[in-house]
Amino acid sequence: MPIYEYICPRCHIRFEQLLPLSRSGEDTDCPACKSRCGRAISKFVSRASSDMSMLDHVPSGGGGSSCGGCTSSNCSTCG
Ligand SMILES: [Zn+2]
Repeated sequence: MPIYEYICPRCHIRFEQLLPLSRSGEDTDCPACKSRCGRAISKFVSRASSDMSMLDHVPSGGGGSSCGGCTSSNCSTCG
């Protein structure tokens, strides 16, 4: 008969319970507080909360009319 681990959601104790395979998927009662306990997950997978808050770097002061290809402030010839 396999042994299963349970964790009580109320008193957070971990206990083991012998259950037949036919009842392996069932919940059991906490021996302390008699509340319903689900099976303890042996491998705790911590889901990394990746906060994808991309910082948008808006270029400040982009109001110039110079084209950047010439040094003169008045670049009417370089379309
Ligand atoms: Zn309990």
